[in-house]
Amino acid sequence: MESMFDISGKVAVVTGAGGVLGGSIAASLMKAGAKVVALDIRQENLDKRVDELKQIHNDVIGIAGNVLDLDNLKDLARQIKEKWNTVDILVNCAGGNVPGATLREDQTVFDMKIEDWQKVTDLNTNGTVYPCLAFGELMAEQGSGSIINISSMATYSAITRVPGYSVSKTGINIFTQWLATEMALKFGEKVRVNAIAPGFFIGDQNRAVLINPDGSYTERSKKVLARTPMKRFGDISELNGAVQFLCSDAATFITGVILPVDGGFTAFSGV
Ligand code: NAD
Repeated sequence: MESMFDISGKVAVVTGAGGVLGGSIAASLMKAGAKVVALDIRQENLDKRVDELKQIHNDVIGIAGNVLDLDNLKDLARQIKEKWNTVDILVNCAGGNVPGATLREDQTVFDMKIEDWQKVTDLNTNGTVYPCLAFGELMAEQGSGSIINISSMATYSAITRVPGYSVSKTGINIFTQWLATEMALKFGEKVRVNAIAPGFFIGDQNRAVLINPDGSYTERSKKVLARTPMKRFGDISELNGAVQFLCSDAATFITGVILPVDGGFTAFSGV
């Protein structure tokens, strides 16, 4: 029986595929039968990831590239179109916090170096906008495609210590809505743009602020869990279903949404 969640044979570009979320999402798309272009700026992460992904099947290409290089992304889009004839899915996982842009407990916002602010906002805003422009243009020409951006819990209400990250991820929310609207109005209903907003998952970027060296939870972790009705952190694999759903025909009337995957964090006032 054909499943409405079927994405087999689709061509997916995953940026930041060398990282925690991008790696898990790329593997899940491949297990569902998609072909994957794994893009990352760090060659060593990428090589390791591509070796892992090849264990699933052989339709994977690793590209060392920078999501902030629009011309290069446009070239890449054309090359993929030549090789595989289409780009159906773009998942924008490159991003995250930048050392220096996360304030220490003893710092205030006035201690933040403006270069760090610029780095984190550039990566998390343009690092999603540019791939959307490069691959989105191709989808617009084809008249079909699905873009998934990665938002954050830091866009619903203020989360201390990460001002630049919060501002740029909030920009991703409105850009997702804006581009979804633009695509549907000007290029037809089959080009859809959505985002997922991951709750709290322990990854390389936030391990130090959530877990003490002795393995116990930090005070910040305890605050997160107090606001999470499910009383646990997420497992990275719990984002994969939401991505596949949004890319599949099960979501043909869904565009411009920011879907929280958060154990109830955004639903709960804490009281
Ligand atoms: P990660 O650091 O493990 O992965 C990010 C990847 O992006 C890395 O492999 C890095 O090399 C790559 N990258 C960085 N700059 C790049 C550039 N200019 N061009 C191409 N690649 C580049 O991070 P992650 O935990 O997998 O997070 C992925 C996304 O999910 C980020 O946008 C992050 O903000 C978001 N997110 C993560 C969590 C979490 O709990 N891990 C929660 C909410 C949102």
